[in-house]
Amino acid sequence: MEVFIGIDLGGTYIKAIALQKDGSLLLEKQIPTLPERGSGDVIKRMASFVKEIQETLNQPIKGVGVTVPGVLRREEGIVVMMPNFPPDQWRGVHLRDQLHQLTGWSVELLNDARAAAYGEKVFGAGRNFSHFICLTIGTGIGGGIVADGRLLMGSRGVGGEIGHQVVVPNGELCGCGNKGCLETVASGPAIVTSAIRFIKQGLHTKIRELVESDLNLITPEIVAQAAGMGDQAAIHILENVAGHICTALNNMKAVLNPEAVILGGGIANNDLLLRMIEERLEEKEILFPHYLGSMQVKRAELTHMAGAYGAAAWVMHTSREGK
Ligand SMILES: [Zn+2]
Repeated sequence: MEVFIGIDLGGTYIKAIALQKDGSLLLEKQIPTLPERGSGDVIKRMASFVKEIQETLNQPIKGVGVTVPGVLRREEGIVVMMPNFPPDQWRGVHLRDQLHQLTGWSVELLNDARAAAYGEKVFGAGRNFSHFICLTIGTGIGGGIVADGRLLMGSRGVGGEIGHQVVVPNGELCGCGNKGCLETVASGPAIVTSAIRFIKQGLHTKIRELVESDLNLITPEIVAQAAGMGDQAAIHILENVAGHICTALNNMKAVLNPEAVILGGGIANNDLLLRMIEERLEEKEILFPHYLGSMQVKRAELTHMAGAYGAAAWVMHTSREGK
């Protein structure tokens, strides 16, 4: 039996799955990341975690795929930066080689959002599509593009950053250094910021009642809950978010001519927002109708394990290609 391990390195948990070659799940496990202990400690515990899984399964491991929540030099297996981890701890870390040395198995790295897109392609909502874009909307907005059935990487492996396309010229400063990226207006924190602004402006909204006036308790889920109750301010916030997401999706549609968009992440679980996005995309189908066709809106299927599935699928792919 050939076993592939997918590891999703997140700020809170290190999640792992073990898959057989046909994709059947053998095991799913997680341990806390404890990023404050530094990269060396996290990598050592990741290695012990994989060894423990191997001992449990008592099967040889064919390869280990690891997601990196940030920028990496994939071909060299080096982390460039991971924004949600202690700064300077991970810059320039040879994650692939260190894990390989500690475990002896072949290791491949992939950005977490690209891994989620690839996981959906191989095992999830993208199975039946050769051309799709994937947006993971949470604290940030991650993206991935599958074109001609392959994960689009770009010249330096950073292609697919859909969340960092500008949708508001000269808008708010984004963590990436640019201004007005989709992430600044449609991510979880952007939704919360809009709600707080409305409340501070004195607008009547159920959002305030739901958090009993404690603005620190506002989450995107609370805003969605208020919108579901018919609250106009909350509906306005979600409509704005849907509008920006659709601007981005229509840009991508004109460039890539995809068959579908797959939406994942906590915020994409909101039915109302999904419906708003679908309706707006349909309105825009008057553009180039015969050339571009319609773009189906699908919900991601792999949810919280998408990164781990994608990492395992990726290492399967690279072992097959003999890279
Ligand atoms: Zn940006």
